Amino acid sequence: MTNLDADRPAESHVFEADVSRLLHMMVHSVYSDKDVFLRELISNAADACEKLRFEAIAAPNLLGSDADSRITLTLDEDNRRLVVEDNGIGMSREELIEALGTIARSGTRAFMERIEANKAGEGAQLIGQFGVGFYSCFMVADRVDVVSRRAGSEEAWLWSSDGQGAYTVSPVHLADAPARGTRITLNLMEDAKSYAARWSVERIVKEQSGHVPVPIAIVEKPG
Ligand code: ADP
Ligand code: MG
Repeated sequence: MTNLDADRPAESHVFEADVSRLLHMMVHSVYSDKDVFLRELISNAADACEKLRFEAIAAPNLLGSDADSRITLTLDEDNRRLVVEDNGIGMSREELIEALGTIARSGTRAFMERIEANKAGEGAQLIGQFGVGFYSCFMVADRVDVVSRRAGSEEAWLWSSDGQGAYTVSPVHLADAPARGTRITLNLMEDAKSYAARWSVERIVKEQSGHVPVPIAIVEKPG
């Protein structure tokens, strides 16, 4: 499928059972430190920039005219949205499905095993101890849209989910995607709306992402 089909309807996919369980836990988390979701998204964005730099050693043309890595956080308080964007390696359709629909990662697997072994219901606290990664954004968002364009690709894809067991994948027009990399839009829950406010986002970035080797810009969505 190519982006010539960018107007065709989204295909639906069901999450792997383990992902559904993890998501259920995230959504119903009473864990108070939800701030960790931003650390996870920023760390993924920085990893993606690092992966691009690595691939570009053998294929410098992947960088095009945009060689400087960056992460941009866009605040949209009016629409209760936070957007995390990077110009890193990006994801193909297959990579989106593999990376954001399954639980192949060792960290998350270990986390799930701890939860299993731990019937006493300490799952919520465990979230803070493990890097649970991308799925933690469903602690604060009731819909997450990931638009990604892999470096060097002429296709861009939208992954979208409300964290309730399924997600959709659909092609998007290149004009609606980053030139390269990944744009994650969090539609924040009512009680998480402060994550679209500058004071809050600046504090979390300072506290949790100070070591990140990629510059992080925080901008307001132009009204
Ligand atoms: P981890 O970072 O431990 O692998 P995550 O749940 O944080 O686990 O992310 C899962 C996978 O999704 C990553 O390994 C990566 O392949 C992919 N991914 C997530 N965010 C991005 C991004 N911004 N750019 C490219 N790939 C990403
Ligand atoms: Mg991660």
